[in-house]
Amino acid sequence: MDSYDVVVIGAGFAGLVAARELSLRGHSVAVLEARDRIGGRTWTDERLGRRLEMGGTWVHWLQPHVWTEVTRYGQRVEPSPASQAVHWIAGGTRHESSPEEFDALISRGMDRLARESREWFPLPYEPLHRADLDQIDHLSVADYFAKIDLDPAEREVTTGVWAEHFNGPAAVSGLTQAMRWCSAASGNWPLLHQATSGYRLVEGTGALIGAIAADSNAELRLGTAVTSVSQDSGRATVTTADGSRITARQVICTLPLNVLSSIDFEPALPAAKLAASAERTASQGLKTWIRVRGEVAPFTGYAPDDHDLTFVHPEYAVEGDTLLVAFGTRAADLAPDDVEGVTRALRAWRDDLEVVDVAGHNWMADEFSRETWPMQRPGQLTKYLAALQEPHGAVRFAGSDLATGWAGFIDGAVESGLRASRSAHEALRGPRG
Ligand SMILES: Cc1cc2nc3c(=O)[nH]c(=O)nc-3n(C[C@H](O)[C@H](O)[C@H](O)COP(=O)(O)OP(=O)(O)OC[C@H]3O[C@@H](n4cnc5c(N)ncnc54)[C@H](O)[C@@H]3O)c2cc1C
Repeated sequence: MDSYDVVVIGAGFAGLVAARELSLRGHSVAVLEARDRIGGRTWTDERLGRRLEMGGTWVHWLQPHVWTEVTRYGQRVEPSPASQAVHWIAGGTRHESSPEEFDALISRGMDRLARESREWFPLPYEPLHRADLDQIDHLSVADYFAKIDLDPAEREVTTGVWAEHFNGPAAVSGLTQAMRWCSAASGNWPLLHQATSGYRLVEGTGALIGAIAADSNAELRLGTAVTSVSQDSGRATVTTADGSRITARQVICTLPLNVLSSIDFEPALPAAKLAASAERTASQGLKTWIRVRGEVAPFTGYAPDDHDLTFVHPEYAVEGDTLLVAFGTRAADLAPDDVEGVTRALRAWRDDLEVVDVAGHNWMADEFSRETWPMQRPGQLTKYLAALQEPHGAVRFAGSDLATGWAGFIDGAVESGLRASRSAHEALRGPRG
């Protein structure tokens, strides 16, 4: 039986950052990854004539942990094209306005949410700082905007913008998660929008995570799905799908929350971790790339969450055509590679665009994720976050799902990997150091 100081389960950003930190501190580390590639929910792949991001894409200097990695590995960012117009849908009708007019339309609701975010979350890296969060944690973003004084179009559009941010229906999107995002952007929602979709890595997320992996002394085993983790007398045994068993003094588990229960733990995981995994995250949507004929001037499309696509934006020119990125809130209703369905959904904004082809990865159907970017439902912050961050014997947990600051982002994955590696190192070193 192979034996290591640490076994890390999962080779996404959380897992590979934790593995790098621990291996560079001199611990023996193995990373077990079910897929045949690293990156997890980030995946830079050749599609539709160029290199595209199937998962996580945009990063920002406002996100301290991922930005440190950008600096450390000499990566560069470039802006996504600035929109010249916004096409939006309200009351079942199409509208077109300038980006400034659109921002004015959503500003009353966004200003209020952003202002209140600083009251409820004065310290973004202490999301449970206020003891009275239960007063708002049961609310969805749809509940929140339904209660405040907005015109019907303002309400519909602002709620739709948040459904897009959650990659899930507004009715299951937790208000506190929206506030945590706003607070992390210091209560400035235009800055939040810039941080979430303004700047992408020139060489792709694949180059960044590749640099992290190359800077590590950990042993990486791809195509190695973990099926169980058992613990006895302070030592863990990790079993993989081919029946191999590996022992470790510490285990760092970085599974997405929705698949956490796919591993058998002995002793069993505490009830709160299992309940959070069974309840699932709010995110249940899709990301798709659409190649349309000819050059298209940059625009943004927003639609309410009863549309199959809720956001669209041109990102690249390729061979005289344009590549649009689009998101929807329900992958169950529209698969990201369904050419006909995506074409139909795009027509809600623009029927002048001719679709050549579409490409995307269905993260909801993917047995190693079953979610897109992790977003909490109403109530999940106060019920589960602290419990999800707790170790279980020698097993520590990391991943963007349970990050403290920019939860849901690559930044959150890096942050959680750093935290888990620090506490595993302290446990390995023992009380006397
Ligand atoms: C469509 C999409 C768009 C996004 N856009 C952005 C964005 O623009 N900006 C941003 O910052 N973030 C974005 N995100 C979110 C970001 O990509 C994730 O939050 C982050 O990559 C998660 O990293 P992680 O290490 O926590 O989890 P993961 O990347 O999911 O890593 C977990 C790893 O565990 C592996 N695994 C699962 N089960 C097993 C098992 N049984 N045994 C072994 N290994 C297993 C998985 O294969 C995976 O590699 C997006 C995500 C998606 C899906």
